[in-house]
Amino acid sequence: MASSVYDGTVPAHGNTPRPVIGLEIHCQMTSLHSKLFCPCRADYRGMGPNENTCPVCVGLPGTLPRLNREAVRRAAMIAMTLNCKVPRKISFFRKNYFYPDLPKNFQITQLDMYGDTSVGGRGSVVVGGKTVAIRRIQLEEDPGRLIYRGTSAKNRITLVDYNRAGTPLVEIVTEPDFESPRQVRLFLQMLSDMLSNLKVSDPSLEGAMRADANVSLEGSSRVEIKNISSFHDLEKALKFEIARQEAQYSRGLGIPQETRHWDAARRITIPSRSKEADMDYRYLPEADIPWIRVDDKEIDELRAWMPESVGSRRTRYVDEYGIPPQVADVLSSDRFYSDLFDGARTDENARELANIITTDLMGILGDGGKGGYSGRVTSEHLGELADAITAGRMARNSAKQALREMARTGRRLGEISTGLDRLSDEMEIGRIVHEVISEEPQAAEQVGANPQAVNYLVGKVMQKTRGRADPKITLELLKRSLQS
Ligand SMILES: [Zn+2]
Repeated sequence: MASSVYDGTVPAHGNTPRPVIGLEIHCQMTSLHSKLFCPCRADYRGMGPNENTCPVCVGLPGTLPRLNREAVRRAAMIAMTLNCKVPRKISFFRKNYFYPDLPKNFQITQLDMYGDTSVGGRGSVVVGGKTVAIRRIQLEEDPGRLIYRGTSAKNRITLVDYNRAGTPLVEIVTEPDFESPRQVRLFLQMLSDMLSNLKVSDPSLEGAMRADANVSLEGSSRVEIKNISSFHDLEKALKFEIARQEAQYSRGLGIPQETRHWDAARRITIPSRSKEADMDYRYLPEADIPWIRVDDKEIDELRAWMPESVGSRRTRYVDEYGIPPQVADVLSSDRFYSDLFDGARTDENARELANIITTDLMGILGDGGKGGYSGRVTSEHLGELADAITAGRMARNSAKQALREMARTGRRLGEISTGLDRLSDEMEIGRIVHEVISEEPQAAEQVGANPQAVNYLVGKVMQKTRGRADPKITLELLKRSLQS
């Protein structure tokens, strides 16, 4: 009998078939106000057990679901961003199974049983040069959450919290088009950027993104891996499972079709004791929710409302503003920074602005502090800073200090008294002008014959003040001093 635990043997790679991976990704639509079929809050985080419930989401007899239309609209936007078709008629199905986290004993979900009736399908995206086909996008309700207490099987207690039950979920089902965990990682990064960009889901929230994967070696049976609670773990689970299957293959052992669970603590996949793979869910049309019609006008409205995609922003930054591709990648992948950029850019300051945001601002705010500072550093702040540097009124290397002050206090450039702002005191500039003239007698003499030579002296003053001297006043004072 084949052992279920990979013993660590390095398989002999001969002509081992290539891995084939398909994904089912569940994303909670965390930005919606209410659950999918009742008015309870979609964001249940931070609430006491079972506080966020009502008769509908705990499945009391006699209750009826009322569909959150906004959830359909947002799911359709996700579908369109993944180049899927959104059908004009959408329907729901009941997936029947008995489990304590599912109080109705069925989950309301979607399925393409009578043609294309889920919220989107048959799309594709290109990731790292590879085209990945999207089979289906479906809208469904999240079940509740089971919490296990106790150490031994004998003393184990299972608690159930229905706060999450009914939270709107979008499931993205891909074709088995991935060939490596690396491709999967690139796809997940793209998806995560895309969902943040649409402001539909916050992928950083615990449990907001979960995944199941199917993995096989080409020509062998498929293994389903369930229970992967983060994208980080997904890559680890795939690497483990591919190595396990390759080891089985190289030893001439079969790879049975089965469902395995990812054990995050032990970092291995283990065979699932449940019969999930063979389960008959007895899908039935959900008769309590009528067909949803989506007309062309609504699709057009959604398209108009959808933000510019990450890819389109990146192209615009490179083509229109001459921003280097690596900087454009970083800037376009985060909607927060991208919006700050677009709010402040001009044809003149764009490159400097992109630099300030990607090298200085991102370092100061970091991922964690972004939220707290988001209201303080605005496009106006950044625009003024980029203009000052572009016009030579401020030294490039002072930008970070000025930004730090802005993030801390919310003050604008003109209100910051760090000594970084432009030096316009005539006495002070005059003193430096005289210093420069006495240090550069030859250049000072040339100005009479060649008025352009004064620019060299302006440059020297700028050097001494690290770019802070007001160029207009400097020029004026230089001219005056040299005439006298
Ligand atoms: Zn409810």
